[in-house]
Amino acid sequence: MPVSRQYWVNAFYWASDEHSLSPFMLMKFYIYTFGCQMSEHDSEYMGAVLLEKGYSSTEEESAADIILVNTCCVREKVEHKIFTKLGRLAKLKRKNRELIIGVTGCYAQLAKEEIKRRMPQVDFVLGTQGIRRLPEVIDRLRSLRQGWDAMPKTDKQLEGFPCGFRRRSPVQAMVTIMEGCNNFCAYCIIPFARGRERSRAAEEILREIKEAAAEGYKEVLLLGQNVNSYCDPSNNSISFADLLIKIHQIKGIERIRFVTSHPKDFSYRLVEVIRDYPKICNHIHLPVQSGSTRILKLMNRKYSRAEYMEKIAWLKREVPEIGISTDIIVGFPEETEDDFQQTMKLMEEVEFDGIYSFKYSPRPLTRAYQYPDTVPKEIKGRRLMELQGLQKRIQLTKNQSLVGRVVEILVDSVSKKDPYALCGRTSSNRIVNFKGGPELMGKFLRVKIVRAGPNSLFGERV
Ligand code: SF4
Repeated sequence: MPVSRQYWVNAFYWASDEHSLSPFMLMKFYIYTFGCQMSEHDSEYMGAVLLEKGYSSTEEESAADIILVNTCCVREKVEHKIFTKLGRLAKLKRKNRELIIGVTGCYAQLAKEEIKRRMPQVDFVLGTQGIRRLPEVIDRLRSLRQGWDAMPKTDKQLEGFPCGFRRRSPVQAMVTIMEGCNNFCAYCIIPFARGRERSRAAEEILREIKEAAAEGYKEVLLLGQNVNSYCDPSNNSISFADLLIKIHQIKGIERIRFVTSHPKDFSYRLVEVIRDYPKICNHIHLPVQSGSTRILKLMNRKYSRAEYMEKIAWLKREVPEIGISTDIIVGFPEETEDDFQQTMKLMEEVEFDGIYSFKYSPRPLTRAYQYPDTVPKEIKGRRLMELQGLQKRIQLTKNQSLVGRVVEILVDSVSKKDPYALCGRTSSNRIVNFKGGPELMGKFLRVKIVRAGPNSLFGERV
């Protein structure tokens, strides 16, 4: 029997037959997510609270009574995509006047008036710090048809999600440990959209993870804009490294991952913790953004190329199996060909296992918005292509070197391309596809790598 994606969705998350009768029983919702893992986690939470209230989910946009567009604002291109999506939804609403459309997340936080002006079909807008109030907002909208005054006040305290909320993945539990950012990188809108850094109490985080372990989750993904600056608000002596050690002691949790780390706060102590505590995965996402110290300074990144490379050297020396991924922006204002070549050189030296790469786009409110956008569009495009071409070659070479080796994976999803295949990840975050049935989901397996592409590996069970 092919293992369909729907099977997993039904088996692990969306099954709603345990709900008793409710006035909302027949109402279905659909959520679109734009953005990072934090946005995905917010969508996961929104889906869970609606299910708790007796709504049910649908995989068909046209069958939904409520459509939520959970947004991101990091790049201009995403903003265009959001409005394209909303334009399509507005057409649906013309056919079905009862349809409720809500916009949530980072872009909603910053651009409520813009959304309202351009998309009057949208019923409500809910910012990043108001998603806990989603059911209340929808109830009010349905009973009073009041929408536009639904933006709640900002939560001052960073809370976790309520106990026992249902998660989307059957294997990995995402857990927010901190939110917001104080770094104000010159290109980045996040501190304006998510607010200043707030850490959750360690006790709360540990409670949530213990609960996830008791429910059978084997892996946790700790989330935060800058996890390295985590600081327990109730006990300032608990740092991020300390928190990792405490999580490591939780029975049932076998793997611990985290994103994102700012290089300036990435300490040698953290490298030692990754080296010494086996449940902490051999993977780090350490965004470099540019290989030129001059551009890093203009970006307000607060580290130099040499400092970044020193941290990479620590990692490679202490944890030889480490997988390293990064973010890179090309075409930042004043980036010359020489600056760009320094980025290419850095990539060759580090040999990243994965990158997220983007053309610079100016974002309102940021410092760089004031800078002249000096790099022409076609040069940004050419640099991005060159950079991605180089990365593809690096990844292919690195992946091919694994052919013939046996690796351990945790099976976590169904292949997008082959319904008879599953995917698992190595500790270093490499994706391995292999043939297998649904009974293997959530299991640790040993597989022999038989084939390698630039983005994934293909294996056989041993
Ligand atoms: S560290 Fe910089 S890039 Fe990351 S969220 Fe904060 S301001 Fe944005």
